[in-house]
Amino acid sequence: TVGCVALDQKGNLVAATSTGGLTGTPEGRVGDSPLSGCGFYAENGTGAVAISGDGEEIMRYRLASRTMEKLPTVGPEIAVTSLIKEMHERIGGEAGGLVLSPQGDYGWFHNSSHFPCAFVTSEMSEPKVYLKKDE
Ligand code: ASP
Repeated sequence: TVGCVALDQKGNLVAATSTGGLTGTPEGRVGDSPLSGCGFYAENGTGAVAISGDGEEIMRYRLASRTMEKLPTVGPEIAVTSLIKEMHERIGGEAGGLVLSPQGDYGWFHNSSHFPCAFVTSEMSEPKVYLKKDE
């Protein structure tokens, strides 16, 4: 999956996801990536989130919705970190997620083995790239 969240100067928040799916799944399977509230969610004034990983668990847990519900009280980093860990503890599954607040604060977390992330603002000449959390 490729996931993206963005905030423009008028306060519009958007999220986008694109996936190649998973190998070995039934023909016609719909994963988390195209489902609002599962693989992505965005709402002006609340935030934007893009998530990927084990789609069955992400859909069952409504991971993007739950992350957005927590965002206003704890901020993006704690929201995405705590919800991915909570999903893993309660029903299993690995995931990675990016979250952006209406103020432009961002957070990301993954318990999957790889989840590179890039961050850029209109003031930066090039993106800051993280290959893995804590690098
Ligand atoms: N989240 C996707 C799915 O379950 C897989 C992926 O792109 O990592 O369909």
